[in-house]
Amino acid sequence: MDYDLFVIGGGSAGVRCARIAAGHGARVGVAEARFWGGTCVNIGCVPKKFMVMAAEYGATAADARGFGWDVTTQGHDWAALIAAKDKEISRLNGIYKRLLDTAGAKIFEARASFIDAHTLDVGGERLTAERIVIATGGHPTGLNIPGAEHAIVSDDVFALPHFPRRIAIVGSGYIAVEFAGVFAGLGAETHLIYRQPVPLRGFDQDIREALAEALAGNGVLLHPGTLPTAIENNGKRLVLADGTALDVDLVFFATGRAANTRGLNLEAAGVATGTKGEIPISADFATNVPHIYALGDVTDQLNLTPVATAQGHALADTLFGNRPRGVSLQNVPSAVFSIPPIATVGLTEEQAAKRGEATIFVSRFTPMRHALTGRVRKSLMKLVVDTASDKVIGAHMLGEDAPEIMQGLAVAIVAGATKAAFDATIGIHPTAAEEFVTLRTQTRLVGTAPAAE
Ligand SMILES: Cc1cc2nc3c(=O)[nH]c(=O)nc-3n(C[C@H](O)[C@H](O)[C@H](O)COP(=O)(O)OP(=O)(O)OC[C@H]3O[C@@H](n4cnc5c(N)ncnc54)[C@H](O)[C@@H]3O)c2cc1C
Repeated sequence: MDYDLFVIGGGSAGVRCARIAAGHGARVGVAEARFWGGTCVNIGCVPKKFMVMAAEYGATAADARGFGWDVTTQGHDWAALIAAKDKEISRLNGIYKRLLDTAGAKIFEARASFIDAHTLDVGGERLTAERIVIATGGHPTGLNIPGAEHAIVSDDVFALPHFPRRIAIVGSGYIAVEFAGVFAGLGAETHLIYRQPVPLRGFDQDIREALAEALAGNGVLLHPGTLPTAIENNGKRLVLADGTALDVDLVFFATGRAANTRGLNLEAAGVATGTKGEIPISADFATNVPHIYALGDVTDQLNLTPVATAQGHALADTLFGNRPRGVSLQNVPSAVFSIPPIATVGLTEEQAAKRGEATIFVSRFTPMRHALTGRVRKSLMKLVVDTASDKVIGAHMLGEDAPEIMQGLAVAIVAGATKAAFDATIGIHPTAAEEFVTLRTQTRLVGTAPAAE
């Protein structure tokens, strides 16, 4: 065989797996068809966060007036933002490629597909490998409505040549609400159209409601409980199911993602896929073919970069580092970079209530800075506690710095901290974070305690 391990896809999962495996001394090949670093670095987390930061600066400049600054701004230069972002991203691309090179992996800038269970076609070259990793990620999917070809998806938004004055974003997952914040913050008339009554299905209900309020407070025009039926007028009009139409410059579908499995010729290797094209895996990352593994978004489990990299690392250590382990998908913290942001770890109130009795602590308050800015923006913090064990089983926050605060709380929750431990922790004053250790009054009890034996 040419390689001990061949990795298809140079994104978060693939680069980590290839780099660590090569570091353990394995003969590793890795193919990337488009850009090193994958979705996160090029068309995901990283450029998205730069754009959110850009949008936040506008509000920060306005808010500074409340602190005595005489600030005037001349408007935002979209082309300058895109150029600055592109420069940083190409620097990161180089770093990813060098990391692989230095570790001793052989890199192929080419598309790979299966010829059989041990043989790949990599850009026309025939290569064999003892083990193969599929880490091909996913892609955005739009809606199948008339005129859909005029809409953009998240892949396109990072290279938009012109800033739209009016935009309709369809969807209410995290990507939709993040870009609603970006476009509204940079000055566009921003419409958000979604089927649910409140955005962010699957998140804690209090957080969802607080987010809807915050979006409206930022000037985003919300259209809940409806869906588009057509795009007309050369992409400039979005017709909704309720009969109304929105005249805009751009329609953006943020309606979901699907696994990149087409074109891999998985049938030739006998690798099975699920109903949406995703690749099911076992706890040790194996597909139904024992020497072929799948990692990250292509498995459609928890589509987050730190999960993908943790899986890549664990698989490389397991196969070549004599350190076998899996990756727990319990208590994985995550953030939504809306404005203000959301962060969460553990169970929502609704999930906890289904399990047993939970004690809920909620605090809503005006953050200190807005006492002077005059901006109407509230933070929400929430703890979900298992009544029987006193363990904190969920923490949720909407408010400035939520992701930075939640990372530390996630450690406490993974370690099994009780509410009594939170209460015994001294706060850092004056911060928003101290609220998490001073929540004393229970807001409500939910769920039912298991009946006594
Ligand atoms: C807009 C957006 C924002 C996001 N924000 C966040 C965030 O804030 N935080 C977070 O944790 N996650 C975020 N994510 C999710 C995160 O980007 C993914 O979870 C992560 O990139 C998954 O890594 P991966 O390695 O599985 O796939 P990817 O990073 O998608 O990498 C797969 C790679 O495989 C390559 N490839 C595909 N097919 C082939 C082939 N046949 N041959 C060779 N190469 C191939 C692709 O070109 C790609 O580079 C975001 C995603 C999007 C779209």
